[in-house]
Amino acid sequence: MPITEQIVDAFVRCETKAHLKLDAVPRIPSELSRWQQRLKEDYRKECNELLRSAFQSYPGTPDLPSLKSCCHALILGYVVALPEIDAQIDALVLRRQISARMDCPYIPIRFVRSESISIFDKLLLAFDAVAFSKAYGKMPRLGRIIHGRDHRTAAVPLSRLVRRINSVLKALTEQRARNFSPPLALNKHCVECEFQSRCREIAVAKDDLSLLPTLSSKERKKQNDKGIFTVLQLSYTFRSPRRLSHSLAKHYRWSSGSPSGLAALVWRLQWEASREAGVKKSLIVYNAEDCEAADRVATALVAMCSPNSGSESSYSTVNADALTREFPRQFGNVDFVLPEFRKINDAAYWDYQRSKVYVRSNSRLRRQEHNAANRQSISKVPVNKLVMMNEERPSACLRCASTLIYRIGRTNQTVYDLRFSPVGVKRWVVKYSHRRFICWKCKTTSNARTQT
Ligand code: SF4
Ligand SMILES: [Zn+2]
Repeated sequence: MPITEQIVDAFVRCETKAHLKLDAVPRIPSELSRWQQRLKEDYRKECNELLRSAFQSYPGTPDLPSLKSCCHALILGYVVALPEIDAQIDALVLRRQISARMDCPYIPIRFVRSESISIFDKLLLAFDAVAFSKAYGKMPRLGRIIHGRDHRTAAVPLSRLVRRINSVLKALTEQRARNFSPPLALNKHCVECEFQSRCREIAVAKDDLSLLPTLSSKERKKQNDKGIFTVLQLSYTFRSPRRLSHSLAKHYRWSSGSPSGLAALVWRLQWEASREAGVKKSLIVYNAEDCEAADRVATALVAMCSPNSGSESSYSTVNADALTREFPRQFGNVDFVLPEFRKINDAAYWDYQRSKVYVRSNSRLRRQEHNAANRQSISKVPVNKLVMMNEERPSACLRCASTLIYRIGRTNQTVYDLRFSPVGVKRWVVKYSHRRFICWKCKTTSNARTQT
């Protein structure tokens, strides 16, 4: 089976998904993926129409000699069908100038419906380039993405992305050759994945740690290194109140089977486009059931918090205060049935002491932790734009009026702002780099900000 765009897209999101697709495991396409596919097709048609009306184009896949002789300025829907790779390139455009570094005369174009371009879109463009290079013999170094409602064009340099795609292709080939199945870990992509019910079933049966969405993969690995692989094992490293909320969601069944805010969003958009009565009904039923479920949770919480909840509540949860110990309290060493449990217990207890008890009780450590968290969160914010300010050297020192002034390096100023676009609001960080000057007489330093 050749490697396709769908398999590469699956691999960069979840290795298990790529493996399942390669193995042709039967799947149930989710409502969301069907809808996304439809929108993608519509957008492709729209872009094709637009390009056809503006330029003379060749529809389909011309033969290699005519491709080499550069007779077509624009090709729409070029298909690469090789035993190892299979791709349909949205469009190929002929370059006006060819340099020694960029010897491939064609630029692949990809149509992306969304306003913003994600790394996945860029990687798939690089996959198109790799597929084209296998058929044509030369690698495009530049690609273009037409995106959004206004069909804007973005140029994408491909060298680094192509390297990444080549490593993905290598990993996929190895995966197939060794028939290796990657370990299952539920992730953010699962809500829109067609294997969702299958993977969830396996994860629930294994009581896998990835069932906890707030546990990052790094944290999960840390727990695995300690010998903790299941939610139950993890729950023993915490105090009992953590276990109370685990079964609340099981008390309600949505009639649609797999409730999610995302599905409701899809129905809403579908209804806006089609005004279908069936879609509207699904949306109303989902919203009504959502309210009912919230009401059920609120009632359960009230029942749990009442003083006599331990004996009378109809829910399978109890107030932690009402719990009695199942064994006599005792100090000293605990005899573990399995010696591995001692190691787990020691590590868990040590973590608990350090992060929950000692840091909380010591004000200096608490302050340090708080400052470190703040410093980290600010420094991690990526800068969207760097502005190099090349100010003139001041004519005289503001302090001593000396004219002997030299440049010494630069200072930075970061401005955090919001940027509004047709699709929403995003954080916008601009870093200004100012020239810095020093008065050689009084050693006062200044930059554009101190001069004003
Ligand atoms: S459901 Fe989640 S874990 Fe399973 S294949 Fe899809 S993305 Fe991967
Ligand atoms: Zn001075």
